[in-house]
Amino acid sequence: MRSAFFTLRGRFLMSLLALLIAAMLALVLIGSLVVYPAMIDEERAQSANELARLERTIETEMHALLLTAKDWATWDDTYAFIQGGGDDYADSNFSRNMFEDLDYQFMLFFDRQKHLRWVAGIDPASGQYGSCPDQEGPCGWANSYADRLKPLLDSTQPLASTRLEYQQDQSYYATIHPILRTDESGPMQGWLIQVQLLDGKWREQMAAQTGREVDISPVPSSGPPSGLQITPTDDGRIHVEKILTLNGYDEPMVLGTYLTRDAFLERMATVRYAQWWTAGLLLTVIVFVLLLLEIVVLRPLRQLALFTQQVKQDNADAEPPERLLNRQDEIGALSREFLHLIQHQRHRTSQLLNLSQTDHLTGLANRRLFDEQLTALMSEPQPPIPVACILLDIDYFKRYNDFLGHPAGDQCLTRLAECLQQTVRHHAIERSLLARVGGEEFAVILPGTSPTAIIKLANALCIAVSRMTLQNDKAPLGIITVSVGAAICTTDELSPSILLARCDAALYRAKQQGRNRVASDLGKASRSHADERL
Ligand code: GH3
Ligand code: MG
Ligand code: MG
Repeated sequence: MRSAFFTLRGRFLMSLLALLIAAMLALVLIGSLVVYPAMIDEERAQSANELARLERTIETEMHALLLTAKDWATWDDTYAFIQGGGDDYADSNFSRNMFEDLDYQFMLFFDRQKHLRWVAGIDPASGQYGSCPDQEGPCGWANSYADRLKPLLDSTQPLASTRLEYQQDQSYYATIHPILRTDESGPMQGWLIQVQLLDGKWREQMAAQTGREVDISPVPSSGPPSGLQITPTDDGRIHVEKILTLNGYDEPMVLGTYLTRDAFLERMATVRYAQWWTAGLLLTVIVFVLLLLEIVVLRPLRQLALFTQQVKQDNADAEPPERLLNRQDEIGALSREFLHLIQHQRHRTSQLLNLSQTDHLTGLANRRLFDEQLTALMSEPQPPIPVACILLDIDYFKRYNDFLGHPAGDQCLTRLAECLQQTVRHHAIERSLLARVGGEEFAVILPGTSPTAIIKLANALCIAVSRMTLQNDKAPLGIITVSVGAAICTTDELSPSILLARCDAALYRAKQQGRNRVASDLGKASRSHADERL
């Protein structure tokens, strides 16, 4: 059995499926190697831009804080205060309301010996306000900040700076400014440190200002992020972070924010949508092509194949469907050509059959057809009983030939055949067959005919020949005559050989009795025949 793969349908199906897989692979590869990387690059570039913008905002903020610190630190009153003067300086300048209204939470005043001389502001932990001269008492909370920031005070390089620090789970700006006179002349008498916590309030302000949630945190224990780090979050956003490149701090900090991915996800969905649509379209095209193939090519080819099978099985009526023959395409042309070829072959076959069954000299049926017909008749399930046969032999024909020559003998045979044929036709016995069964012998098969009709025909044939008066000078009567033997077979002795033998015997009797006559062997039908003759 042929494998389904090797059928036209199987081959087309496999080829188109391979095409579909290749196209899908190309789509996936284009998506993953070209489109997605480009989208991710774009997202990275946008994230970097966003972080750079936030960094600039923070820088501006730190600069603004530096300016307010400068205001405080370069003021004759502060200059005097740090040297022990200005008794009402603290009372008149610091208040809870002031620190609540300002961005920074507290200030630390150091003298030239880096001793903390005054603390003013709000305790980040408890929220209590304090304005105290030293590290004891209600301003004790400031000690940890003072301890951390004191090492940053540098009397050799008394420059102003704002730093980012992290302490007690909290990031903060610390602005350090040398204390000078109002005209910024020295000598420097100490340092003012202003601290602004990057707490919830700060984050709210940043969010209002930049539209982003900003967080500044120390480097995690797992190590600093290398370059820009993007982490998708559960809520469909991304968290982007990078090391802050601001000056003024010893330990690096990490700046992070959250960005929405709406555009990215939308573009991703569009790409997926395009991929699915392309795949769907390809699948539809393939189904359509297969359907078209089935209707336009495969079905007609199957019809043509069915026709060839019928031809192979000798079905003479087989013809391709009309629709196939009317097609104007290659399959239609092939069907028409094929039908033409088959018809031509049928014609040649029938010609050959005809030749093989016809006597070439007289045009009558030959011995082969005679035998076939007789056998076929007797083999029928219900033979046309009785089956009769009339055998004719020309009298003294050898003499005719010898005297007039063989060509004249042939001519005589032809004329005789015409005469016999006319006579048989005249009697119009259904399914009768006249054949030339030997050199100058003829025979008639007569199925289902009464003995009377048979004898009548035998006599008619005999008389018809003699009436032709074909000259045969060497015969006693001087003309061509025939001797006729007739025999009938009924059910009991239904056999071609028996019938012919009895016919032959009757003919022999006719010859013996003087020729130009009819002798018959009607067998079991003889009584009724005799009756009819009487
Ligand atoms: P009878 O039958 O009366 O006993 O005598 P006959 O002379 O006919 O004898 P026989 O039947 O033996 O002779 C047959 C002759 O028929 C022999 C041959 O010359 C002739 N004959 C047979 N076939 C042909 C043929 O095809 N053409 C011609 N011209 N003659 C043929
Ligand atoms: Mg003979
Ligand atoms: Mg003869």
